[in-house]
Amino acid sequence: MSDQQLAHVLERAAQLDADDHLAVYRELFVGVDAAAEGGAAASADVVVSYLDGNSLGRPLKTVGPLLAAFVEGAWGGRLIRGWDEQWMRLPTLIADELAAACLGAASGQTLIGDSTTVLLYKMLRACAAARPDRTEIVVDTDNFPTDRYLVEGIAAERGLTVRWITTAPDSGLTTDQLAAAVGPQTAVVLVSHVAYRSGYLTDLAELTSIAHEAGALVVWDLCHSVGSVPLELDAANVDVAVGCTYKYLNGGPGSPAFVYVRRDLQGELRQPVQGWFGHADPFAMGPGYEPAAGMARFQSGTPPVIGMLAMREMIALIGQAGIHSVRAKSVALTEFTIELTDELLTPLGVVITSPQDAGRRGSHVTLDHPEFRRVVAELWQQGVLPDFRAPFGLRVGLSPLSTSFTELATGLLAVRAALQSPAG
Ligand SMILES: *Cc1c(COP(=O)(O)O)cnc(C)c1O
Repeated sequence: MSDQQLAHVLERAAQLDADDHLAVYRELFVGVDAAAEGGAAASADVVVSYLDGNSLGRPLKTVGPLLAAFVEGAWGGRLIRGWDEQWMRLPTLIADELAAACLGAASGQTLIGDSTTVLLYKMLRACAAARPDRTEIVVDTDNFPTDRYLVEGIAAERGLTVRWITTAPDSGLTTDQLAAAVGPQTAVVLVSHVAYRSGYLTDLAELTSIAHEAGALVVWDLCHSVGSVPLELDAANVDVAVGCTYKYLNGGPGSPAFVYVRRDLQGELRQPVQGWFGHADPFAMGPGYEPAAGMARFQSGTPPVIGMLAMREMIALIGQAGIHSVRAKSVALTEFTIELTDELLTPLGVVITSPQDAGRRGSHVTLDHPEFRRVVAELWQQGVLPDFRAPFGLRVGLSPLSTSFTELATGLLAVRAALQSPAG
């Protein structure tokens, strides 16, 4: 490939940015001004290309002032009065904003709190307990580690059997596979909507109905879809869904997770971490646990108020842009990733291990090459930040409102240059 052809890649990217009606949103994020657009100024301090927004989204510029104002005003000024005045309501208030902007869910069915791992544990336990005569939990072998480990632990605690579905690492759980695995013995199924490794986008409505036909409950893990793929949880008759808020919802490192429980199921489910915040009357401080009505029963302890503030800004932004427009940009970015990979990287031995069909793909593309461990370490030194997933995977994460086509092209050109430079 000639220098001219390489330069043409950046011109094409610039044209896609010029035609992108969501491009204006990028300016609202911290750090994008520092990025040397289209340049390759190598410095570990300057992020030239951020391709890991699917692991940790960039902060919005409004978040710094917002947090400072919270410390001065709400926390420092209102002190303990803040709980009654507002903070007690935030876990359901912000969750309902999320439900409207991203989940396709009516209000009163979503709650923010805990981490994804803790919420998955609580909900899997609650679902298993709601099917006491059934003996199996179904999960796939390529699900996210925390999901698999939790299932193993809960099976051991409850004397259940894990039914593993072996999924191909370059795709994900199919409807046929699930149909073959569920039956009268299935208590609960745990599925990731978008596979963290391959980016495979499962058919949420179809898988849900297959599990329901077998009388099982389904817990959906939405970590890699919420904020980038439109969801219709109510329409799909989803039972329970859990997701994190620091990936495409830009809530910041360790921001709390969310849980959705379909309204008619809420009274039936009892979660195992029965702390005072899930009690019907927490401030009565009475003897004996009695679960609250509605989503409050899925709380355990004091809600993480500061952790909820940043995501609220991003939820509002997604609402403004519209989740379907966000998805359209995400598809355009993953399509461009595949197009450029075919041109720039396939000739160097790189293999695409994400679905080719955009309809079956989330918002990242995974590439494989035996040298990617070295390549990613070198790229990080240059301010080009994809992530590495052992053994050979380089994940290109596209966060639709903050990633530009130029940033993406710059990153993939850097991957090509690093692959061409000898090891060592
Ligand atoms: C990121 C991610 C998690 C993270 O769980 P934490 O409790 O936030 O560490 C869980 N499941 C999936 C599928 C993920 O992608």
